[in-house]
Amino acid sequence: MIPAPFDYVRADSADAALAALREHGDDAKLLAGGQSLLPLMKLRLATPGVVVDVSRAADLAYVREDGDVLAIGALTRHCDIVSAEVVTAHAPLLAHAASGVGDRQVRHRGTIGGSVAHADPSADLPTALLALDASYVVRGPAGERTITATEFATGFLETVLAPDELLIEIRVPKATGEAWGYQKFTRRAIDWATVAVAVQARGGGTAISLGNMGSTVLRAASAEAALAGGASAADAAQHADDGTEPAADVTASADYRRHLARVLTKRALAAAGRS
Ligand SMILES: Cc1cc2nc3c(=O)[nH]c(=O)nc-3n(C[C@H](O)[C@H](O)[C@H](O)COP(=O)(O)OP(=O)(O)OC[C@H]3O[C@@H](n4cnc5c(N)ncnc54)[C@H](O)[C@@H]3O)c2cc1C
Repeated sequence: MIPAPFDYVRADSADAALAALREHGDDAKLLAGGQSLLPLMKLRLATPGVVVDVSRAADLAYVREDGDVLAIGALTRHCDIVSAEVVTAHAPLLAHAASGVGDRQVRHRGTIGGSVAHADPSADLPTALLALDASYVVRGPAGERTITATEFATGFLETVLAPDELLIEIRVPKATGEAWGYQKFTRRAIDWATVAVAVQARGGGTAISLGNMGSTVLRAASAEAALAGGASAADAAQHADDGTEPAADVTASADYRRHLARVLTKRALAAAGRS
């Protein structure tokens, strides 16, 4: 449980982080809250030669309104998302999902950008952000680009981010006054989701996303289409696992995850007022 040797670079701004990534290339790894990277380093599943510590980059820690969008800096910690009034007012699904991440210590260190960039399919925030139709602003040597939550994760712990790119902002279209639901099934209180389901109503439509039902977070497209076609919530929920390929592991078989996806979708839709 001791990481392999590495060099440490502290980068207290987005520009300093980008400069360090440019200098050290593929050998460098960003450290935000360290709640996912450090366990991987201790297990020597990650062995970066250089750790670029951005945890004190204050220019990347903010939550602000930008017209119809909530703009959230990548270094914003889970606990600050839980308590930010603009988030509870305009994206309560996100605040609720953040409140269920790990325990207090994890929520006080972990960041929204770290959670998104880590791309764990069982993570709470990426599941909620997918249902919220969020997009991610990334900065690199060629400038900035914006990537939708649907396109961002490409596989288990894999994303479209290049090694010299920094996730700087999460943009969440406001869902003020819209119904939502979030269901997370765990074996123990502080665990990652065995399966999670996020539901977000918006302008008459309903988005449903699934955590831990494949190698990335997913939209439950068949269930969404069934709802849009007039199916009841109970009938639509029966399609929640259509097209998914959940893993089997020590917490659940693939079939049990499929069962959970259907049950949790029905419950999340009920919480969002759909019957
Ligand atoms: C005991 C425990 C319980 C947990 N339970 C849960 C849970 O229930 N639900 C849940 O969702 N999560 C859980 N987590 C994970 C937690 O949410 C982490 O905070 C999160 O996954 C990673 O965020 P971080 O800021 O700690 O990132 P780090 O660990 O610092 O980084 C993670 C990865 O993202 C990269 N990265 C970080 N920031 C950026 C950036 N701005 N741009 C580009 N790349 C970046 C890093 O290089 C690294 O590869 C748990 C963690 C622990 C230790």
